Amino acid sequence: MPPLTPIGFNLYSRGVRITAFIVILLCQLFAIQLLLTADSCSGYYQNRQQQKSSKLHETENPPVNEKFEQTEKPAQGEPKPKHPAVPSDEILWSVPSAGKKVALTFDDGPSRNYTIKYLDLLREKQVKATFFLIGRNVQKSPVLAALIAGEGHEIANHTYDHYIKKMSEAVIKEQISRTYHLLKEWTQQEIKYVRPPGGNNRIKMKSVAAEMEMQLVMWSVDPQDWREDITPAEIIRTIKEQLTPGAIIVLHEGKPQTLEALPALIDELRQDGWDFVTISELLGVS
Ligand SMILES: [Zn+2]
Repeated sequence: MPPLTPIGFNLYSRGVRITAFIVILLCQLFAIQLLLTADSCSGYYQNRQQQKSSKLHETENPPVNEKFEQTEKPAQGEPKPKHPAVPSDEILWSVPSAGKKVALTFDDGPSRNYTIKYLDLLREKQVKATFFLIGRNVQKSPVLAALIAGEGHEIANHTYDHYIKKMSEAVIKEQISRTYHLLKEWTQQEIKYVRPPGGNNRIKMKSVAAEMEMQLVMWSVDPQDWREDITPAEIIRTIKEQLTPGAIIVLHEGKPQTLEALPALIDELRQDGWDFVTISELLGVS
């Protein structure tokens, strides 16, 4: 074999250098793409967080065009609105279009003596519910709030102090905001729904909630399970009498009569063909 001529050697080494250059270039392009993807994901998350927290701390009126943007019809192919069944500036009572679906909601927790028992029962029955938690109670038992979320239930806001009295818009905003941050911190869920304590202050709460990009959620079935003189059988009977498609049932944590009613309530409604869903599932947004 003839020795490699200088020209042949130069051609050969130039080929190697070009190949190496192309490989390095491709690697760099790939690395840049990876960085960009990671940045855009975390950037999106940070933006969402910043948008949310700036909303929550807003004390001024929103910019004029904000309302326009909210009501503007999305063009084809754009993401769907957050709550297609009910606009966020309306109060949610039920979702009749959902058919034979029903949402169990539990107010006033977490409760040190009862939350675990409720969770055990719901897990055993394979039911997912929505828990409207009181900020003050979350502050006392944050791990219970995390447990509820960890079981796959939906977490919602029931204000910090659970005032039944009249509240100014500023106080309502502070009550919702304080609870929102606690819930976000301990449950890592997007907090989308607010329920007024005792169902009071609805109109003011609705507008504050809408401004904070949350929806006010009431109920269509109320067995008054909080009453000490009510029996589990009465709770079940009232629920069955008031039940309609897409109903939202209000129940409470920390009530022995409610806990006792739950197994039979779930079994009987299932036998009648009802599916148990969270509020987001009822609205078709989860
Ligand atoms: Zn309550």
